[in-house]
Amino acid sequence: MSEPPLPVRESGTPSAPEPDPRSVPESDTHCPYCALQCGTRLRGARAAEVTVRPADFPVNRGRLCQKGWTAPQVLSAADRLTRPLVRRPDGRLAEASWDVALDRVAEGLRGIRDRHGPDGVAVFGGGGLTNEKAYLLGKFARLALGTSQIDYNGRFCMSSAAAAGNAAFGLDRGLPFPVTDLGEAQTVLLAGANVAETMPPLMQHLDQAELIVMDPRRTATARRAALHLQPAPGTDLALALGLLHIAAVDGLLDRDYIRTRTRGFDDALRRAMAWWPERVEALTGVPASDQRRAVRMLAGARNAYVLTGRGVEQHSTGTDTVAGFVNLALALGLPGRTGSGYGCLTGQGNGQGGREHGQKADQLPGYRSITDPAARAHVAGVWGVTPDRLPGPGRSAYELLDALGGEHGPRGLLVFGSNPVVSAPRSAHLTDRLAALDLLVVADFVPSETARMADVVLPVTQWAEEEGTLTNLEGRVLRRRALLSPPPQVRSDLEVLRDLAVRLGEPAGRWSADPREVFDELRAASRGGRADYSGISYRRLDARESLHWPCPDAPGRHPGTPRLFLDRFAHPDGRARFTAVDHQGPAEDIGPAYPLYATTGRVLAHYQSGAQTRRVAELTGAVPEPFVEVHPDTAVRSGVVDGSLARISSARGSMTARVRVDPTMRLDTVFAPFHFPGDGRANLFTHPALDPRSGMPEFKVCAVRLEPLPGATP
Ligand code: SF4
Repeated sequence: MSEPPLPVRESGTPSAPEPDPRSVPESDTHCPYCALQCGTRLRGARAAEVTVRPADFPVNRGRLCQKGWTAPQVLSAADRLTRPLVRRPDGRLAEASWDVALDRVAEGLRGIRDRHGPDGVAVFGGGGLTNEKAYLLGKFARLALGTSQIDYNGRFCMSSAAAAGNAAFGLDRGLPFPVTDLGEAQTVLLAGANVAETMPPLMQHLDQAELIVMDPRRTATARRAALHLQPAPGTDLALALGLLHIAAVDGLLDRDYIRTRTRGFDDALRRAMAWWPERVEALTGVPASDQRRAVRMLAGARNAYVLTGRGVEQHSTGTDTVAGFVNLALALGLPGRTGSGYGCLTGQGNGQGGREHGQKADQLPGYRSITDPAARAHVAGVWGVTPDRLPGPGRSAYELLDALGGEHGPRGLLVFGSNPVVSAPRSAHLTDRLAALDLLVVADFVPSETARMADVVLPVTQWAEEEGTLTNLEGRVLRRRALLSPPPQVRSDLEVLRDLAVRLGEPAGRWSADPREVFDELRAASRGGRADYSGISYRRLDARESLHWPCPDAPGRHPGTPRLFLDRFAHPDGRARFTAVDHQGPAEDIGPAYPLYATTGRVLAHYQSGAQTRRVAELTGAVPEPFVEVHPDTAVRSGVVDGSLARISSARGSMTARVRVDPTMRLDTVFAPFHFPGDGRANLFTHPALDPRSGMPEFKVCAVRLEPLPGATP
């Protein structure tokens, strides 16, 4: 069904008086996109006039990428949502007052709860939401709705690394050290991370290091590497096991570190000993000589780091695969050492904070487990309720989306800060599930593909219009500061949640919409948890203190913890854990009907589902449409030519994309970015197989067929 166009409004504050040029407002804040959270200074009195300059902030040191430079353009997007929209009986979305829209939502939610119970309604959040929003969203789901059915798109981002990090170190913080520490590295292994495109300013911290890049594609990052390991998609863990094998056989292990700081090495090594270099080469395609060279580079470096990204995480075996790289780092004695370490490169803007404060199905604020009685009692106490008011764990993100509208699944869904129609796997199926709902509510600032399906659309603030905090990939808590007032009829997500909670019968005094007050409540809820923010305050952040969690509210002002694990890991005995893991193939292998591996990812010019970056002319000019990268020989075999339109099909569905012939591609692999809507959605073909521990879908590998698009002229 084609959606009618949404009402279009001018954004910003066009009726405001001309600003006095001597008093143009400025604001020190951070980029709205990725987890590097580059520091920026914004200037401007109106949305269409805002300019951005990079700040001399430690992670970006005066640099921004193309997305950061152009971010202000989203503030004045032509189709910015500036009025609530409610779907009319004729199927069209029409402008409505806030009272009408919120009453419709509350009435719909109450009706579903009455008919189907509290789990009949669900909430889906996002890894770009501020800490305050993520926290209040979790509280809203558990208290105002009473539902266990809440999860978020961060589940699709780095949940496998989180699961592996918790198992290995007893704590999950993307980088347990500041980004600037990387400047001292001699060797860095980047496993499945294309930082030259996804967070370019980070590359300046790697200038001095010899890079080993592990990626099935010859990415921009791989082109800058001293050594590029190019394994077949879905074989990363075999390669990690092989590297550990070589380290052991060649006498390159840090035996003293293994003995004094870890447990479980022998079991892990036993698995790795079955992966000798030639066997790994046969499976992965990575020459044994390159494997040996990689291990020598890592083991011989004075300072070395192993960093993982989405490439190794987004698999149905993602947790084990990350564990394979953690094992390698532990065997070489890297984690918890000054000048060396292991880390995971978080993706979304608040990917780190977003998974700490309660919008995850199994979690309460402070990175607490929702099944832990002490955690439940603590958080319930902060919220002023008894622990039995808190539901238990719900479904993980894909399981939740897959259940929507089904016999036992939620019948109503609230979406904040996410666009799952584009970003979730098997997206045609997901679109059907959304269409089967009794009520779909989307809070967003642009009419995303998901918002266009909604029964009620709630226009909310965007980054330069709001206050709050985010936590970047280093666990550093940052202040987001407003430059502009939002358009008159736009509200903050916090106001929306408060107003809905009160309409659903919650006492008004339990719900603040003031970011500072919400953060103070978050601090109390996190107190004593693994991600303890209780010693962090807006006042300290505004005084430019650099505060990494954990930062307890201790006497004498805790300085925060930029470097974790230097003395001990977070397990009770202080030791890290090896995990005995073994390679398993992907959920789906290639065969006659689908003879190629497909892998998906990001490009420099776009961010996640593209809902923001596709509204920036310079970015759409750089990458205007979906494409598929393919080796020239594979293109010939498939009957497609460079520049033509092709269809990429799996057993689940097909996308349409422009062919880009690239001789650096593997012969057995094609690549497509996932930023585009409609027929250009790469997630039409991706596989929804889930990692059993993290709930991560298998975005990075599935079997496809490439063929010319019928009727398209080459
Ligand atoms: Fe920095 Fe990431 Fe923004 Fe680029 S997208 S400017 S790397 S925070």
